[in-house]
Amino acid sequence: MFEVVINTEYCKGCGYCVTFCPKECLDIGEQFNSKGYRYPFIKDPECCIGCLSCAKLCPDFAIEIYKLAEK
Ligand code: SF4
Ligand code: SF4
Repeated sequence: MFEVVINTEYCKGCGYCVTFCPKECLDIGEQFNSKGYRYPFIKDPECCIGCLSCAKLCPDFAIEIYKLAEK
């Protein structure tokens, strides 16, 4: 499993991460950060396959992906 960590304060709401996630794990939420941008959230914590597309595409380096240890 992978953990998707979004630094919401870095986000400017461009939506690239949502558009290019191959598993459609992300969506833009209803809340705003302090700069007035709506930021993404992960719809299902088990959705992510760790492809790193969102982290690589984010122009503001707002996303980090961590591989969780197997139980
Ligand atoms: S790492 Fe890949 S699968 Fe996971 S949320 Fe980002 S784009 Fe989607
Ligand atoms: S790609 Fe980055 S800046 Fe754009 S919506 Fe996603 S987290 Fe925010």
